[in-house]
Amino acid sequence: MRTTVGIIGAGPAGLLLARLLHNAGIDSVVLESRDRAYVEHRQRAGILEQGTVDVLREAGAGERMDREGLPHDGIELRFDRRRHRVDFPALTGGRSVMVYAQTEVCKDLIALQLKEGGPLLFEAEALAVEGADTDSPRVRFRHEGREDVLECDYVVGCDGFWGVARKAVPAELAQVFARTYPFGWLGILADVPPSHDELVYARHDRGFALLSMRSPFVSRLYLQVPEGTDAQDWSDEEIWDELERRFETDDDWRLERGPITQKSVTPMRSFVHEPMRHGRLFLAGDAAHIVPPTGAKGLNLAVGDVVTFARALIEFRATGDATGLDSYSETCLRRVWQAERFSYAMTTMLHRAPDATPFDDRIQLARLDRITTARSAETDLAEGYTGFPLD
Ligand SMILES: Cc1cc2nc3c(=O)[nH]c(=O)nc-3n(C[C@H](O)[C@H](O)[C@H](O)COP(=O)(O)OP(=O)(O)OC[C@H]3O[C@@H](n4cnc5c(N)ncnc54)[C@H](O)[C@@H]3O)c2cc1C
Repeated sequence: MRTTVGIIGAGPAGLLLARLLHNAGIDSVVLESRDRAYVEHRQRAGILEQGTVDVLREAGAGERMDREGLPHDGIELRFDRRRHRVDFPALTGGRSVMVYAQTEVCKDLIALQLKEGGPLLFEAEALAVEGADTDSPRVRFRHEGREDVLECDYVVGCDGFWGVARKAVPAELAQVFARTYPFGWLGILADVPPSHDELVYARHDRGFALLSMRSPFVSRLYLQVPEGTDAQDWSDEEIWDELERRFETDDDWRLERGPITQKSVTPMRSFVHEPMRHGRLFLAGDAAHIVPPTGAKGLNLAVGDVVTFARALIEFRATGDATGLDSYSETCLRRVWQAERFSYAMTTMLHRAPDATPFDDRIQLARLDRITTARSAETDLAEGYTGFPLD
């Protein structure tokens, strides 16, 4: 099998890249190790930055998002039983975010790809990328019980944190920057209308809590839990009781309860692999970097990477100018590190570390107090949350 761009992974990064290339008349093949139902139902991100929303619209993949997504103009910070709303458009010159689940983004892009795009092979597991530093890199993969080879001009590894693409970068050329946090998120989906119309980020002495949503009828809520927690150790009632405690305020706000349909625990880590390019192999999305979900940045970074690659390849084919391809890694990494900084700052401001001292608690409260009283600090948060520019 032969193609111009071999794409490993049909998460948001791989699917959007295939769409952007198709729109530019560049052929690609997407290899995805899991089946379609698994990819379409894996619960993950839910917040799309303004730039991501614009890219999906321009790619012709925004129709259902515009119909069913929930535009959000702010978030609420909650601490010391107080509430403070951060107004995004007022602080950023009109920028906002969209609540539209990653599952739905993937469903929309898969439907478009199968209808109009190049091959998208499910249950096709990439085994290795070979010849990354030659003019004809290859992906060895297994599909329908047979091993095959995909010959490419370029390979883009969009295969997430556990994928194989990153392994094709020689260890002596790579540098890894990582941090794991001593806590995770216990996330639930519940069939109950959200108790607030915007996301609520709560800092509490018992730990962080987040109120989010997937639709006007489905709530998504998270609790900070110790690293290694098993979701089944928490009964539904214990989860609601703990959420109630961490969201408590001095006014009459109430948390509505409903049937929990799903619960799972996500570990928290920061990770960056440099460089993001080796020869004709390009890494994009979680394959190259991970952020803790507190800043809602992971999916948006993946979008930024593939937009950068697609623009660079389109430019090269149109003009012969390879500057964009050559500088892919540096261009992406500047944005990646801004998102790492932002996600780290949000995480450390809102979560309680197991060894936190009273001094650490006071510093967290002082950081929150600063955001609620100094417009410059509040603007910094609003700019980071709504997203760093794609150019
Ligand atoms: C609980 C949770 C909440 C989150 N919340 C947010 C949020 O609010 N906002 C946000 O922006 N981000 C959020 N994120 C992060 C976001 O989900 C990820 O950053 C995003 O999925 C990255 O997309 P990707 O396409 O790079 O990787 P993935 O979505 O991981 O996709 C990689 C794909 O590659 C496939 N694959 C792996 N190995 C192979 C192989 N060998 N061969 C073929 N295919 C392979 C995988 O099956 C998968 O489909 C959250 C994550 C979690 C876990």
